[in-house]
Amino acid sequence: MTRSQKGISRRGVLAGTTGLATGAGLGLHPGVEIAQAEGATGEAGEAAGTAAPPASVQTAAAAVERHGDAIIRISRDVWEAAELSLAEAQSARIHLRALEAAGFRTVSEGTSGYPTAFVSEWSQGAGGPVVAYLPEYDALPALGNAAEPRQTPAPSGNVDGHGCGHNMLGAGCTGGAIALKTMMERDGKPGTVRVYGCASEEAQGAKVYFVRDGLFDDVDLALAWHPAPVAAVGELMTSANVAVKVRFAGRTAHAGNTPWDGRSALKGAELFGVGLQFMREHLLPTTRMHYVYEQAGVAPNIVPDVAQIWLTLRAESVEEVQRVVAWARDVARGAGLMTQTEAEFDLYYGMHDILPNTPSIDLLHRHMAARPPQWAEAEQQFARACQREMDLPETGLATQVLPKIGPTKVGGSSDLGDISKVVPMAVFGWPTAGQGTSLHTWAITACGGMSIGDRASLDTARILAGAGYDAVTDPGVLAAAKADLDARMAGKTYVPLLPADRTEPIGIPDWLRKTGQDEVVSFDPAGARGGQRRRSAGTSTSSRVSAVASAALRRPSRSGRPVGARSRNSPGGMESRPRPCSTTRPRSIRWRTCRATVSRGRPEASARRRRETVPVAPRGSGPAPACAASGARAYRWTAVTATSM
Ligand SMILES: [Zn+2]
Repeated sequence: MTRSQKGISRRGVLAGTTGLATGAGLGLHPGVEIAQAEGATGEAGEAAGTAAPPASVQTAAAAVERHGDAIIRISRDVWEAAELSLAEAQSARIHLRALEAAGFRTVSEGTSGYPTAFVSEWSQGAGGPVVAYLPEYDALPALGNAAEPRQTPAPSGNVDGHGCGHNMLGAGCTGGAIALKTMMERDGKPGTVRVYGCASEEAQGAKVYFVRDGLFDDVDLALAWHPAPVAAVGELMTSANVAVKVRFAGRTAHAGNTPWDGRSALKGAELFGVGLQFMREHLLPTTRMHYVYEQAGVAPNIVPDVAQIWLTLRAESVEEVQRVVAWARDVARGAGLMTQTEAEFDLYYGMHDILPNTPSIDLLHRHMAARPPQWAEAEQQFARACQREMDLPETGLATQVLPKIGPTKVGGSSDLGDISKVVPMAVFGWPTAGQGTSLHTWAITACGGMSIGDRASLDTARILAGAGYDAVTDPGVLAAAKADLDARMAGKTYVPLLPADRTEPIGIPDWLRKTGQDEVVSFDPAGARGGQRRRSAGTSTSSRVSAVASAALRRPSRSGRPVGARSRNSPGGMESRPRPCSTTRPRSIRWRTCRATVSRGRPEASARRRRETVPVAPRGSGPAPACAASGARAYRWTAVTATSM
């Protein structure tokens, strides 16, 4: 290893493997993380390849080769689609298409309030472990690029692009699941392979909602990977993170004639920012606070009556971030008092810190080390050309698997954190661009759209399938992973940072919202409407999906809790009077949406609809709240998770 390569590897370990969930804004202070990495790798480093390669390495490679075309097609098609967070409908369909073709059942679409999330699974035999894979597939704005080693627009004209490599990430995860199914079928091993379509990782990642809604309750192991400049895995601990909108409401007035009549919301926001700066000195060095002004008035001669700050708070633990939140809330209230404005503090999203799971990390590392990355010379030349364009050392793509990284805290965050608190979870980094290449750059997009991206998708599918197979077939693997989780969580209980009353992320595009009519169809495929669909956008499988979803989610849970079916509470056509919604709470769903259809004697097609979302009682059965849609002559309850894309 040359000197420059060594330098890159140390930096790259963190820049790369902590690149997961960059949508949460991972930013690392070079001095801090490199010092941590020095200590961590020096002490806990484990030479790659020292342990005997697992036998499943070969069989996983064969299974991936068999599905190679499908895996590459996922990566290429999602790369081409390049859809932003919360709008990645086509990309989700690309995954579901591949999974259904491989024999997986679509259990849920529009999962947990995310129109572009899904759950798909395949089972064999009675019982057996449940292994989860976590594909992501959202792109980033303004990072569209041709698959060429220079910054140049994509031929499609799409300005958005996979600058975080989620086209490959998704292909590797879904491909790993498909390959694992093949391996289990060959050997007749019982178990379940489940794929969670992790929508919107770059914004308000769906994984947090999944965990909050209990979708991981029966999972034994969750596996994922993320593009990186290096091949590495280790005990990286991301930060807990909350996202807040702080809105100030004042009173407008003529700033020249009668300023005394106004109260400036902007001044409230400014004082809030100043208050945060004065907080900093007294916070732990690992705490992060960053914000932008989203609204700050429209013209200086109008006293601004509205101002809004978008704030992120991070700390090394959930407990610490909650202390910071409480203080920041006080600062907002104080700023409102000082300016005689109203301050509203809306904590709308939150992620836990990642809890490492050593046995799962070791498992992944064994499979990574068994076959280090290999590249064609043309691919190395492509990567070096990208590095040259970016003024990086022309070292090409990494060809080694780094020693396992020891315990290392990082400032960034990931929605994998919530999963890691409830089931054993591990994620690794694998090269998809030249060493030293930062994620969220055009070069990641460029490399991901050609054979480098293909190869990374196949390699990571092999690693994930092999590790999954070991987990399914060796009870010791899962027992060790579970014991590690239990030990790390001893005395603690997972409590989501996500507010309990939040039913869906902010910013779902209108075109992805379904009409009430569609929902009725999706729950009543053989009902009075005869499966007619008024709108077709993205709803092609809704009827079929709901049927299989009911069956799939009706399986008894391992914890012995009742596993409810999807709500289908108003079979048949329009009801003549309101009636309470189902008393059976869907297992994985905490929220239901009531879409009241108020026909008022008019033809159904012109019926006015209103939508209400209400909390459902805690887990288990019990009467659900009454519909509050007064005046409705008919209504139906449907589960939020059952809306299709
Ligand atoms: Zn990413």
